[in-house]
Amino acid sequence: MTHYTFAPAPVFSLPVEGQDARFPVKRIFCVGRNYHAHAVEMGRPVDKSTMKPFYFLKDASALVESGATVPYPAGTSNYHFEMELVVAIGAEGFRVKESDAASLIYGYAAGLDMTRRDLQLVARDQGRPWDLGKNFEKSAVCTPIVPMGQLGVLQAGAIALQVNGSPKQTADLSQLIWNIPELLADLSQYYHLQPGDLIYTGTPEGVGAVVSGDLITGQIEQVGAVQLTVGAAE
Ligand code: MN
Repeated sequence: MTHYTFAPAPVFSLPVEGQDARFPVKRIFCVGRNYHAHAVEMGRPVDKSTMKPFYFLKDASALVESGATVPYPAGTSNYHFEMELVVAIGAEGFRVKESDAASLIYGYAAGLDMTRRDLQLVARDQGRPWDLGKNFEKSAVCTPIVPMGQLGVLQAGAIALQVNGSPKQTADLSQLIWNIPELLADLSQYYHLQPGDLIYTGTPEGVGAVVSGDLITGQIEQVGAVQLTVGAAE
C-alpha cells in the first residue's frame, strides 16, 4: 500500500440526477468567445470563417456545487458571472468526427464560469495567461449532471441568468458559434478527451459584476438551474 507524506487531494465530483453514483471530475475545459454578442461586448468579435475556437482550463479543485455560498474572491474588484452550458464527457475520444461526437457525451449541466474580470483583461491585453482571472478557487460552479438520455445532442434551448432576480443574460443554445459536435471534434484534435472531463461551452452576452450579498440564479432549458450566493470577502 502506498504511503503519502500527507493526505492526497480528494476526488472532485458532481451528483448525477436520478443516480446514487457521483460523476468524478477529471479536467475542466472552458471555451472562450462562443456567442457572437458576447465576443463583441468583450471587444473581440469572432469571424468563424477565419477563426478557430480557443480554450482555457480550470483545475478540478475549482469546482463548487450549485447552491453554495462562496467568498468574494481575493485580488479582484470586478468579479463577474458567466452563465454556461456544461457538457460532461463519459467516454474516451481523440480526433473524433463531428458525426461521432454524441458517443462521448455523458450528460449536461448548468454552470457558472466565475471570473476575476479585471485580472483576466490585464492578462489578455499583456498577452499573458488567463489563469489569475479564470482558474481560481471556487470559480467553476456546476449543477448536478443530467444524463444525455433522450436529450440527445443539444442544439437549442433557452439559457438565462439573473442577479437578485433581475434579468442579466437571456439567449439560446442555438446561438453558440461552435456547437457541441464542432467543439468535441476540435478539442479532441489537441487532447485525448476522457471520462470525467467537463466542457464549459461559453457564455452569452450580458456578463457583469456581482458584489457580496448578491444571489445569482441561472437556468438552461431541459438541463437545470444553478444558484450561487456571493459571501463576504475573505
Ligand atoms: Mn466563460
